Amino acid sequence: MRVRSRRFAHAACRILLPRAQYGNAHCTARNDGPRKRRSPQSQTQLPPMANKATHDHTPDSSAPPKLAVSLYVVATPLGNLRDVTLRALEVLAAVDMVAAEDTRTSATFLGAHGIRTQLMAAHDHNEQAAAARIVELLASGRSVALISDAGTPAVSDPGARIVRAVHDAGFRVTPIPGPSAAIGALSVAGFEGPFEFHGFLPPKSAARRARLRQLKALPRTLVLYEAPHRIVELAHDLAAELEPARRIVVARELTKRFENVAPLTVAGLKDWLEHDPNRQRGEFVLVIEGARPDAEDNAEALRVLGLLLAELPVNAAARLAAAITGASKNAMYAHALAQKAASADRAQPT
Ligand code: SAM
Repeated sequence: MRVRSRRFAHAACRILLPRAQYGNAHCTARNDGPRKRRSPQSQTQLPPMANKATHDHTPDSSAPPKLAVSLYVVATPLGNLRDVTLRALEVLAAVDMVAAEDTRTSATFLGAHGIRTQLMAAHDHNEQAAAARIVELLASGRSVALISDAGTPAVSDPGARIVRAVHDAGFRVTPIPGPSAAIGALSVAGFEGPFEFHGFLPPKSAARRARLRQLKALPRTLVLYEAPHRIVELAHDLAAELEPARRIVVARELTKRFENVAPLTVAGLKDWLEHDPNRQRGEFVLVIEGARPDAEDNAEALRVLGLLLAELPVNAAARLAAAITGASKNAMYAHALAQKAASADRAQPT
């Protein structure tokens, strides 16, 4: 990585390293003479070259690179303040405005990284007005970053309406990816294959159980969020609706002091929570293993197959039924042949 000027290097070091970690001794950038091999330590401390997709470069200019006009949707830490990308800090320091779900929470986070960009509020209750203001800023050539209290904006957090308004107004939207509780939990769950993110289920038990009944046959991993005051209720409802042996991984307080990743079963979740009241505290992601459809007795798969067979040849119907329901293709093919044979028999005059 080459740094074009000393001035940029110092500005970028300020942006990239928490206050306690940067100092002139670490921010040495050279543009005089041949490139020297840097020690591993200085390699980690020098600022990265600005991303071409993010910045307009002026060759040989001594000014910091200017951000392209865009709404930057920036992921911030879930708990551990150091879980933020170098690029996120660079963008948050360089934009003209940071739109934040809670400006006080975000001022603390930005302050911890030595960033003093102006903040405006963008939360559930003012999202439309905030969107209009952000579009105005973009129209006047300014760039804006959108952040939420924790994790990735617009993932069970405000932001989607703002993003849509910016798309509709014809401006660029740029993701600055980073932490999200769902992805963090999924990464430590140990389940393969596709997943579905459902965020928070309905708060009332009857509606929540109805939703679980809709989801229970899905062969995909389910990712749910839950608040501490409802986690035990959710555990009861899961036990009432899902197979007891189904695996479930609790990811609690990720990246924080009392982080807990517990591989359990649906039947064991309630007891695990009630065994120690401390386990009911904090923030939760539940990652639930997908249903394992058994083609022999999977009524839903056979129903879908029957509908498809009425319109399609055996091969196509079996392939689609397997793709829709998660049943095995071979099993669906065998059932399709059997169903066809049975309906041909019925059609024969006796
Ligand atoms: N935008 C965030 C994201 O990208 O994950 C989610 C925000 S949502 C309002 C808050 C919920 O996310 C919490 O109730 C919890 O379910 C989950 N969550 C957030 N931080 C977490 C953490 N450190 N550990 C476990 N779950 C967390």
